[in-house]
Amino acid sequence: MLDQIALPIEGEAKGSGRPELMLRRSLRARRLALRVHLDGRVEVVVPRGVTMSAVEAFVTRHRDWVSQKLAARPTRAAPEPFPPTDISLPALDERYRVHLAGGRGRLRAEIRGGVLSLRGAWGSATPAAARRALLFWLTEHARVALEERLRTTAIRGDFRFRSLQLRRQRTRWGSCSSRGVISLNVCVVFQDPAVLDYLIVHELVHTRHMNHSAAYWTAVAEHCPDWRRLDRELSQGWKRVPGWVFA
Ligand SMILES: [Zn+2]
Repeated sequence: MLDQIALPIEGEAKGSGRPELMLRRSLRARRLALRVHLDGRVEVVVPRGVTMSAVEAFVTRHRDWVSQKLAARPTRAAPEPFPPTDISLPALDERYRVHLAGGRGRLRAEIRGGVLSLRGAWGSATPAAARRALLFWLTEHARVALEERLRTTAIRGDFRFRSLQLRRQRTRWGSCSSRGVISLNVCVVFQDPAVLDYLIVHELVHTRHMNHSAAYWTAVAEHCPDWRRLDRELSQGWKRVPGWVFA
């Protein structure tokens, strides 16, 4: 049974800027519980037989906790338009305006005169097709640049690797197999150039140390003295990836 009732906290008017309180009656719940959702809704789970005055007392008792939870929510940027109006690749020092060129055939993305053109038929499946076309372009475009960077850094540090694979994951930035196959997350192109350089060093050093031992980090520091800061920045790099990449 789902029964949603707005429940104003004592002394707080409902409306602009105030948390919206929802009451959810539950047959299974054993006790009162509060939940703060990412969108700012505050839900009170109410077991059978609990009176409204008990609910109000419970909410009042926990209002500081609710305020803290609300304040701690990650701020979400306004939804980006899709297709995006432009695409920035800071790691490669490139930025493209996206132009919807139209035309016939399957949708594809290509750079023409410094503009990223989406060409092809603008059918009903457009957002999905446009996303596919942009991701295909992004991966192929990134491959050339990342391979070049990887090779240059490998030569400079006398590292050997077998090949480069590009992936698009939400969870990891790169890896290095025991056979020397280096994987990089294509989303690294949305990071700062120094962060990309660090990631490449991180994976290349794994060709010598297949672990994160003290010896490994000493070797990383030789090639990238600022690795601690860059590693932290990389771990927060997901927030620099535009929404359409993982839509
Ligand atoms: Zn590692």
